[in-house]
Amino acid sequence: MATFGTLSDRLTETFRNLRTKGKLSPADIDGTVREIRRALLDADVALAVVKDFTSKVRDRALGDEVSRALNPAQQVVQIVNEELVAILGGQQRRLQFAKQPPTVIMLAGLQGSGKTTFAGKLAKQLEKDGHTPLLVACDLQRPNAVNQLTVVAERAGAAIFAPEPGNGVGDPVKVAKAGVDHARRQQHDVVIIDTAGRLGVDAELMRQASDIRKATDPDEVLFVIDSMIGQDAVATARAFQDGVDFTGVVLSKLDGDARGGAALSVASVTGRPIIFASTGEGLDDLEPFHPDRMASRILD
Ligand code: GDP
Repeated sequence: MATFGTLSDRLTETFRNLRTKGKLSPADIDGTVREIRRALLDADVALAVVKDFTSKVRDRALGDEVSRALNPAQQVVQIVNEELVAILGGQQRRLQFAKQPPTVIMLAGLQGSGKTTFAGKLAKQLEKDGHTPLLVACDLQRPNAVNQLTVVAERAGAAIFAPEPGNGVGDPVKVAKAGVDHARRQQHDVVIIDTAGRLGVDAELMRQASDIRKATDPDEVLFVIDSMIGQDAVATARAFQDGVDFTGVVLSKLDGDARGGAALSVASVTGRPIIFASTGEGLDDLEPFHPDRMASRILD
């Protein structure tokens, strides 16, 4: 998984300097907060998130918990750690299953974000856990998308529901509904609906995704976002939140040289938890997301 190289190095350096001091003056704390702020901004973390984060860290660092601490510098690091965990969503949030199967999970995100790959990874993991997932191909925009999902389903050993060429099912909303009905009849306890993604946020795409959401009433709507998206993370996440009101986030490509921006902005800006981290092109490269472990990784 990404180590957030530069961000991590810069914070480590900041704390190394801080540790050379015994008691901390307000000027020491201000200097440290300024360095944290710059490191986060350079890592493409959204300005609003950085401002909120640094103001919380500063208020706490200037308060009693640091002035009374035996090791004030260590206490500041602890505060930064806690506040990082908070912006990453606090507690781990697991995938939610319906009381009455099938559980319907809809995926949304930009084209190339890693949706189809994630669909396969999730199906494989669910199979391993004893579920019987059905992948439903509702990306009818990209000519090769159905084929790609079929290949992924085969590799994952999961069943797929795809519109057959020439059978008149050219409407992704109808396909989604038919897929859920099929799952019910064939005793699949989880349905994973892959939807179309465009290169940019697009009104028609959003309407289509929103119609699929209305038609299938999913238990989870997962927004898949490429960790390397940088400063566009917030605008993209907000557009998908307005469009499909997603319930959780999947950070994909966390194995790449992500600078940290998307990871650190999205949960905080949308108030939706990150549920999975996708960490490679292989179908086993999927991990549940733990805010505390991610924070430790950044501060390591
Ligand atoms: P979609 O258009 O959203 O369905 O995106 P795809 O699933 O087709 O993924 C786009 C590209 O990103 C493909 O080349 C995938 O192999 C690659 N990809 C997807 N997830 C990951 C990941 O977690 N790590 C890496 N390194 N590549 C990924």
